[in-house]
Amino acid sequence: MIDYKGVLNTIYQEIIQETDKGEIASYIPELANVDKNTFGIHLQLVSGDAFSVGDSEKKFSIQSISKVLTLALALSHVGSEIWNRIDVEPSGNPFNHLALLEMEKGIPRNPLINSGAIVIADILLSVLEHPKEDFLDFVRELTGDYSIDYNYTVADSEMQTGFNNFAAANLLKSFDNLHNDVSDVLDFYFHQCSLEMSCAQLTRAFYTFADQGNNIKGKTRLKKSQIKRINAIMLTCGFYDEAGEFAFEVGLPGKSGVGGGIVALLPNEFVISVWAPGLNERGNSKLGMEALEKFTTLTNQSIF
Ligand code: GLU
Repeated sequence: MIDYKGVLNTIYQEIIQETDKGEIASYIPELANVDKNTFGIHLQLVSGDAFSVGDSEKKFSIQSISKVLTLALALSHVGSEIWNRIDVEPSGNPFNHLALLEMEKGIPRNPLINSGAIVIADILLSVLEHPKEDFLDFVRELTGDYSIDYNYTVADSEMQTGFNNFAAANLLKSFDNLHNDVSDVLDFYFHQCSLEMSCAQLTRAFYTFADQGNNIKGKTRLKKSQIKRINAIMLTCGFYDEAGEFAFEVGLPGKSGVGGGIVALLPNEFVISVWAPGLNERGNSKLGMEALEKFTTLTNQSIF
């Protein structure tokens, strides 16, 4: 049996001594107020045990990590029809890149870059009766935690400043790949990004992807084949133009957000979430990536 508690403590002691903690995302004004020194990890084993260290119970803005959850909900409603409107190739470009979208005639490279997630938001707007409430219910049910909520100030902050996302949505609309009103779709998208969770909650939300579609309470909403595909997309597209580096250094499917969170998993074994708000130049948590590299090296647990 691996000494997970010891491994997490070792990582914590090493990481908190790092002086270069990266840069907080300030392009969403509300995110700029976070303390760069926060650092937490939560690990949930599929066999039942859980371990944590540092600020693992403090809530943060999950931002792009929410794109995996909206993809899961859309897949559970419309199945593989999604792939008529979005591709599944790594973008090799930043999360908000627009030129590729224009060159590829409004078909986003994958559902985990902004343009792809905006199309998923559009799909959800078409199939859900009360999109924001229904998505929140889905996340709460997955996690078994009804305290999870949007941060309306963060959502509003992005609605005021998210010009690049308005550009992406308008471009999608011009290619007829957005069926609802641009501002309705973005209102939903900014709310999904504003969801707040702690590392412990995030780990539980993603448990379903590690346990073949069973959530932490044993309920099943997604098919095994859908879980397989979502994990494949996380591995190849979860870290924007740093997906190759994350697979190389860490070797797990995962997803990052500009709030500084990362969640990663080893199918049938565990889910792990890390939060360190300072980002590297590619927009991924600098210390979070380092911590996960140490974790898979020290435990010898990765998909490779
Ligand atoms: N809400 C952010 C945006 O659309 C999400 C980006 C991210 O977390 O990578 O710009």
